[in-house]
Amino acid sequence: MRSLGLVGVLRGPRSSGTILTVPEHRTPALILRTFDQGESDRLVHLYTEELGRVSAIAKGARRSQRRFPGALEILTVVEARLVDRPRSSLARLEGVKLIRSFEPLVSNLGRYAIACELLEMLDRFTGEREASPDLFRFATGVLEVVGEDRPDRLLGLLVLAKTLARLGYRPGLVRCTACGRALGAGGEQVGFAPRHGGAVCRSCRSPEDVRVSGRVLAALESGLRQPLRQRGRLGLGSADVLLAETLLDRFVRFHLGAQVRTCAFLRTILSAESLDGGRAPGNTAAGPDERRPGAAKGGATRAGAPPRGS
Ligand SMILES: [Zn+2]
Repeated sequence: MRSLGLVGVLRGPRSSGTILTVPEHRTPALILRTFDQGESDRLVHLYTEELGRVSAIAKGARRSQRRFPGALEILTVVEARLVDRPRSSLARLEGVKLIRSFEPLVSNLGRYAIACELLEMLDRFTGEREASPDLFRFATGVLEVVGEDRPDRLLGLLVLAKTLARLGYRPGLVRCTACGRALGAGGEQVGFAPRHGGAVCRSCRSPEDVRVSGRVLAALESGLRQPLRQRGRLGLGSADVLLAETLLDRFVRFHLGAQVRTCAFLRTILSAESLDGGRAPGNTAAGPDERRPGAAKGGATRAGAPPRGS
């Protein structure tokens, strides 16, 4: 166990003279979102390897370069020292050590948008303190690919689909989710019904269900099973990706009751044509403010909050 269970000491109110012992955790953590708090503190959302998602307050973070050596930025992986606070769901972030920064991908808006899609999903759709080391490793693996591959809509789509599956929301794609009949991988138009959990055969589909071919569903299924880097072999063209985005948006809205906000941002940054080897989004020469689409009032960075009017 990397979570050492060390004992930190918290002194109670002076008059009480009590000493409370609270566990300290050391765990690798991906920084999802940060907000300035007051004059010198920072509120940080982390996805940790050992504890799952944790919200923590970093006291004096904006002043102490020693305890937080430039590592409290989104898209960095740190070793975090966290201390639970009695009677508070907010942990105290005592210090961090930089393990790895994915920050270079910020300089490419397309990559940044896809990375923010992942951060937003981890931040909004995982349970506080629901540990999943697998999900942590998945997330850092995805960021590695996003940092190296050409960003395109298909990559954004598959990051969305794979992350959903990891969170327990995997659409059924190869069998009718209503009657169980196997769906072909050909051109037959079947349906997609989030209320059933995914694809539905011709007999089970309703007029309001989006029509989609078995071929697109089978390719998506392969995309879920194969590494992201092999997505070029799936045979999904730009029209297929646009359709699949619609299916997943409906699926997310039905099952999570929300939309992944970053998806809209991502789709304004990455044109559908970027799929077909067309315009690749180049590096932007954006200044510091623009490099943080989430920059909000007070200097807070918010993953998943695209700039207005961009
Ligand atoms: Zn059916």
